Amino acid sequence: MADQERVENLIIGSGEAGKWMAWELGRAGHHAVVVERLWIGGSCPNINCLPSKNEIHSAKVAHLVRNAAAFGTDVTGARTNMPNVLARKRKMVEEEIAAHLALYSRAGTELVLGEARFVAPKTVEVKLKDGGTRLLGGERVFLNLGRPSVPSIPGLSGAAMTNIELLELDRLPDHLVVLGGGYVGIEFAQAYRRFGSRVTIVERGPQLLAHEDPDVAHALSQLLTDEGVDVLLDTATLRVDGTHGAWRITVRANGSERAVEATHVLAAMGRTPNTDGIGLDVAGIELDARGYIAVNDRLETSAEGVWAMGECAGSPQFTHAAFDDFRVVYANLTGGNRSTRGRIVPFCLFTDPELARVGLNETEARRRGIAVRVASLPMQRVLRTETTGETRGFMKALIDARSDDILGFTMFGAEAGEVASIVQTAMTARLPYTSLRDMILAHPTMAEGLNVLFREPPQLADTAQRIQPRDEQPVA
Ligand SMILES: Cc1cc2nc3c(=O)[nH]c(=O)nc-3n(C[C@H](O)[C@H](O)[C@H](O)COP(=O)(O)OP(=O)(O)OC[C@H]3O[C@@H](n4cnc5c(N)ncnc54)[C@H](O)[C@@H]3O)c2cc1C
Repeated sequence: MADQERVENLIIGSGEAGKWMAWELGRAGHHAVVVERLWIGGSCPNINCLPSKNEIHSAKVAHLVRNAAAFGTDVTGARTNMPNVLARKRKMVEEEIAAHLALYSRAGTELVLGEARFVAPKTVEVKLKDGGTRLLGGERVFLNLGRPSVPSIPGLSGAAMTNIELLELDRLPDHLVVLGGGYVGIEFAQAYRRFGSRVTIVERGPQLLAHEDPDVAHALSQLLTDEGVDVLLDTATLRVDGTHGAWRITVRANGSERAVEATHVLAAMGRTPNTDGIGLDVAGIELDARGYIAVNDRLETSAEGVWAMGECAGSPQFTHAAFDDFRVVYANLTGGNRSTRGRIVPFCLFTDPELARVGLNETEARRRGIAVRVASLPMQRVLRTETTGETRGFMKALIDARSDDILGFTMFGAEAGEVASIVQTAMTARLPYTSLRDMILAHPTMAEGLNVLFREPPQLADTAQRIQPRDEQPVA
């Protein structure tokens, strides 16, 4: 075994939290070493968020071009060139990696390419990418691990692609079957349908997006089916057989089995924490009942001087949550006092139109016994949508039954991610909903819809009729 090197700050995994920890500690003059086995900068810029949104945007352009006649421009002979879609995505990823390397070098932090495994408390052996090993012991250790997994369905691991392989396709699948009706599966289903593939989603549950309100899930299903995606709900995947390019997926729905043929299969059935096989037990780092690293609300693990951040720590599975994990830990290392308790973590699903939510939805409020009033508005009533043709969807806000605090906001509509951020700002500042109602918002913007959404007093959910969209237009 190699001689042990002492490191002031040892970071395992260069995901969103790990890399920021490395850069900030480095910039502050601390000695920090990051060990990364595969993706410089983590999965977000390499295989997850940015590459998927890059291809999703290409698909949106394809969709707009195909529908250009509706906007007064005739286009003939348009077709998607997948090698060019792929080349555009790869160029972005390469630029991202170069930018990350520049940041490492500017921060003076060492990036070690290799796979780390604990051999003792706060000590890892690194199998270096280019051969050989290093033994690194950290005074402080930060864990930022995480990866998608392919669930154990017979035959699936040999047949299925994950997002990694899908985002490297240079030919369109004839028939892409997406297993799982969650965020990842839905985004890819719409994009690949728009590129020109036949697409089927197989979802075990009764609705897409298990955590969203049924009206939201239904609206999303409707969008997908309107664009020609087959959505199979209440359908369990039993096994996958076949050979490359000719897969046969056996599913069960309504008590009977049938086969779905596919040229490509995408496994998008959720992600598990990457906490196996890294020797956490040797290091005295305990897991919780779900297999995540057990942390307190300051992201401290059971081992003194070891922190965990991002997906491996059970944080919400978003890049912005991992980034905030870094901020919590870093603040506490530098004299602050921050915790993960009570933080608002929004999300945006990058379908077209987008689905965004911040705070509670009706399902969650009911589950937690929180009395709410609800305001809703169809996107047709937002004047901006008349100019762009993006009339699909709605906004829905939950207001506390006893105060005017906004408890949650869901929007399925164009620019939903941006509009939700405005509501989040109000929620963070504890502004009553009336301030969004009365604020002068530029006309005609999507955000202007917030004036209209809150124009009538929101109504108590379950006990009174929900506020119904008014026929009149917003005042211009
Ligand atoms: C297809 C897809 C699209 C997504 N889109 C979005 C989106 O639009 N917005 C959003 O907010 N979130 C999105 N997510 C989720 C998001 O990518 C993650 O939540 C985010 O990257 C945070 O991950 P992390 O920092 O916990 O870990 P990661 O970014 O996965 O970083 C962990 C790193 O640790 C390394 N590693 C693991 N084990 C070891 C080891 N033993 N030794 C050395 N290195 C190791 C890994 O190689 C990896 O680079 C998406 C996810 C998927 C699958």
